[in-house]
Amino acid sequence: MTMQSANPRAKRILMIGAPGAGKGTQADLIAKQFGITHVASGDLLRRHITEGTTTGRTVEAYVNKGELVPDTIIMDMLRKPVMAASEAGGYVLDGFPRTVDQAEAAYRTAGSLGVGVQIAIHLEVPEDELIRRMLARARGADDTEDIIRHRIKVYEQKTRPLLDYYAQRELLIQVNGARPVGEVTWSIVVQLQRAFKRPTAPGRVQTTTDRAVA
Ligand code: AMP
Repeated sequence: MTMQSANPRAKRILMIGAPGAGKGTQADLIAKQFGITHVASGDLLRRHITEGTTTGRTVEAYVNKGELVPDTIIMDMLRKPVMAASEAGGYVLDGFPRTVDQAEAAYRTAGSLGVGVQIAIHLEVPEDELIRRMLARARGADDTEDIIRHRIKVYEQKTRPLLDYYAQRELLIQVNGARPVGEVTWSIVVQLQRAFKRPTAPGRVQTTTDRAVA
């Protein structure tokens, strides 16, 4: 997958969190704050499903069951929007990568070239709060309690290992997401501003956390 940026100053931010952690809300606010583009893999998939495209018909069953869509479909779908966002100054990617395999595919092209700063933000929210939030905003067949629990299980098994992956490679920002929206945004913005000022050496371990200020 070609995810590298021809724009070395592009801000490349990845939002990692369980379903219900507030990734979409925060990604939107962070993108506005830094004047970059919010790219959400789940939103793009849902749009394909609504529009009945070939991709939409292929992914519908996965999305409805809370299973991960095959990597090749995700990579093909994201290539153009991610490259366009990169050219325009950067992106907040929400919902990608979802697995270490996806991260490695993206890293091979983007990270290895050392272009721009890549920062992963982890929104941590306890499971009972995730379930409460998701039931409150239940929006259809994909939001029964069983599916919600399954999506959280998929996150724990397949996506949580990404945190170690990013802690070892690039900058990982840990954020307590179980707080009011504005407080979470403030915490992320402060840490991002700090991170953007800091020169990054490839492979250097840089994990920051907002716990001290929470
Ligand atoms: P989200 O809105 O990010 O919670 O995504 C909704 C659904 O889209 C997920 O439960 C998956 O079925 C699918 N999906 C979104 N992003 C990805 C991804 N990077 N890899 C595989 N499946 C994805």
